Parts: sequence; structure tokens; C-alpha cells
Amino acid sequence: MELAGRQYLTGAGVDSSASKALEADLRHRANHDSLTGLANRHHFENILRHELTRSERYGTPVALIMIDIDHFKTINDRYGHPVGDDVLRRFAESLKERIRVTDSVARWGGEEFMMVLPQTDAHEGLLLAEAVRNRVAKTPRPGPGRITLSSAVTVQREGESRQELLRRLDEVLYRAKREGRNRVVTC
Ligand code: GH3
Ligand code: MG
Ligand code: MG
Repeated sequence: MELAGRQYLTGAGVDSSASKALEADLRHRANHDSLTGLANRHHFENILRHELTRSERYGTPVALIMIDIDHFKTINDRYGHPVGDDVLRRFAESLKERIRVTDSVARWGGEEFMMVLPQTDAHEGLLLAEAVRNRVAKTPRPGPGRITLSSAVTVQREGESRQELLRRLDEVLYRAKREGRNRVVTC
């Protein structure tokens, strides 16, 4: 602009770092569970979709593990909801410690957790699920003393959709419960 015969260059800037930070915070909240900090179901479904596509493209297996804490309702009933929450938080931490950078772990529902392990076959998935189950069964914790887990492990079958895969995993987990809990079942 020109002012009193002199040329001036004007400009305006907006500091958007605060709104960017807010946006990142909101995105994180939308994708993670507030109790455990793990990915939530919605986020995990996106990760799974992505990993299954990659697996199909490159012909590499992806193992899926579904874990359900046994008799969790009894823990709440006996020791109270806050103790139950603490069990969930600690268990989530122990899962985070076990995974590789390429693996993902999520809180699927109340006391149900999911792991997706790229480039991992059913046998390797089974070994990990057994290692988690064994460690948890041996870890003393405040309140219930010990907890046990039932887990299902599988890899996607040819031509199987993501929904079919998840449904099958659910059925396998149900079998682990029926067969007596504190076990890993695969198919
Ligand atoms: P099963 O061995 O068959 O899995 O039995 P269960 O008691 O673990 O399973 P059920 O589905 O009957 O109960 C799950 C319980 O988990 C019921 C619900 O109150 C509790 N739960 C879900 N979310 C939370 C949470 O965020 N905190 C606490 N403390 N409890 C929760
Ligand atoms: Mg359950
Ligand atoms: Mg349960």
C-alpha cells in the first residue's frame, strides 16, 4: 500500500498452533480408549482393514488375537469397580510391553482386547497368546490376586471378509470359554 507517498508492504499472520494441538488432541481422543490409552474399536477396525489389504497385496500372513479376561464381572462385584479399572489398566500396559512396533493392540470392548500382528502366522500368534496368558496367570495383582485369560488366535482365510474373520474369532473365543477358560484356542 502507499501512504504519504511511501510504499509499505503489509501482511497478517494467524498463529494456528493452539488449534492444531486441539485438533490433534481431539483426534487422539476419538481413536483411543480413555481408561487404558489403547486404540479403541473404531481405530482398530481401520488398522485391521489396512493390514488385511497389505497382507493380501504382499501375500504375507496377519495373525489376530482376541483376549477376554475370565470372570471379570466377579472382580468388579467382589472388589469394586475401581479395582476392576485398575486391572484393565495394568493388563493394557502389559500388552503394550509385549508388542513389536508393527503390531497393534486395542481395547475391543469392556474386558476384551485385540492384537493384530502383521507378517505373523497362526503358530507364531499362538506362541504370543500363550506367553501373554502364562505371564498374566503368574502375575499377582492387588484385589483379585490373579486373573486368567481366554484367547482366540487365527489368520484370515482365503476369500474371507473382515466381518467374517471377526465373527469366526468371536466363535473361537466362545469355544475357549466353553472348554473351561484360561486357555488359548486356535483354528
Ligand atoms: P467370562 O469369563 O465369561 O468372560 O465372564 P466375565 O464376567 O468376564 O464376562 P461378562 O461379559 O459377564 O462381564 C464383563 C464385565 O466387565 C461386566 C462389566 O461390568 C465389566 N466392565 C466392562 N467395562 C468395564 C470397565 O471399564 N471397568 C470395569 N471396572 N468393569 C468393566
Ligand atoms: Mg467379554
Ligand atoms: Mg470376560
